[in-house]
Amino acid sequence: YAKRNLRGQTVLFSDKHAAEIRTQTQIERHLLSADLEHELIQLFQPIVDLKTGRVLSFEALARWYSPQLGLVAPDVFIPVAERAGLIGGVTRVLLEKALREMRNWPEEIGLSFNLSAHDICAAEGVVRLVAIVNASGIDPRRIDFEITETAMAHDFVKARQSMQMLKTLGCHLSLDDFGTGYSSLSYVHRLPLDRIKVDRSFVTDIENDCASKVVRSMTGLCSDMGLKSIIEGVETPEQLGRLREMGCDMAQGYLFAKPMHPSMIAGYLADTNRLKANHAV
Ligand code: C2E
Ligand code: MG
Ligand code: MG
Ligand code: MG
Repeated sequence: YAKRNLRGQTVLFSDKHAAEIRTQTQIERHLLSADLEHELIQLFQPIVDLKTGRVLSFEALARWYSPQLGLVAPDVFIPVAERAGLIGGVTRVLLEKALREMRNWPEEIGLSFNLSAHDICAAEGVVRLVAIVNASGIDPRRIDFEITETAMAHDFVKARQSMQMLKTLGCHLSLDDFGTGYSSLSYVHRLPLDRIKVDRSFVTDIENDCASKVVRSMTGLCSDMGLKSIIEGVETPEQLGRLREMGCDMAQGYLFAKPMHPSMIAGYLADTNRLKANHAV
């Protein structure tokens, strides 16, 4: 791995850099020939109502089981899929799978589904996603699409138009990873949002006075604007206690459950309901 710098000298990449480039190319090559229908899988993590303790929904979190590379995390393969122009197909396969999984769930349990910036900014927009929801027979009101701020920074007008289409269908919309990246409060009120997911980094630092003030003002802002707040990454009972005091609406994190295989969902719901019933007595 060598390239010429501006003065025409040959510059050698460090071994680490070379290895990274090799990996990216490798991942892309395997993804291009992957059998998405069989190799993409999803784990599901519950989102809990802090007032009632009830499970409201599960967020689908993608994994790619590559025969050559093993289990690949979404933070790794989603950006590669975006660059390789494969994200549209990846998202469609994942959405179909998640909706199929929902048929096994109680009617009152919703699905949270992550969309990439490309999904809501692409030329054909979300038209194909709308068709998939319609074909599934699942009530669109049970679906919450999570969109990150990066998507908004990319093409605000197109993103808003796509979001409007999903709203018209009856779906809910969440702004994911709020507080990271290009947070701009100026656009939040111009989008048809239902919920804001406060990024995990703020919860991690909640013992810190400043981070805790940020969380408090973000949840206050949400309720002033008629939006629900979801806190991600809750790991300890202490964090949960602080968040309850602050009036957060919903929470998600290892304290409740790690992302689980779909076959575990029924048992998990039965256990949490039994626990709640015992506490009520
Ligand atoms: P995200 O949507 O913000 O999802 C939350 C991430 O935090 C997940 O990582 C989850 O496993 C992790 N997490 C949840 N609770 C805790 C906790 O208490 N502690 C810690 N340390 N981590 C926690 P994961 O599954 O690796 O997903 C990473 C990101 O990849 C997601 O962030 C999302 O942006 C993206 N992603 C996942 N699935 C999809 C998908 O189907 N489509 C797209 N476009 N992106 C996806
Ligand atoms: Mg998410
Ligand atoms: Mg997030
Ligand atoms: Mg994230």
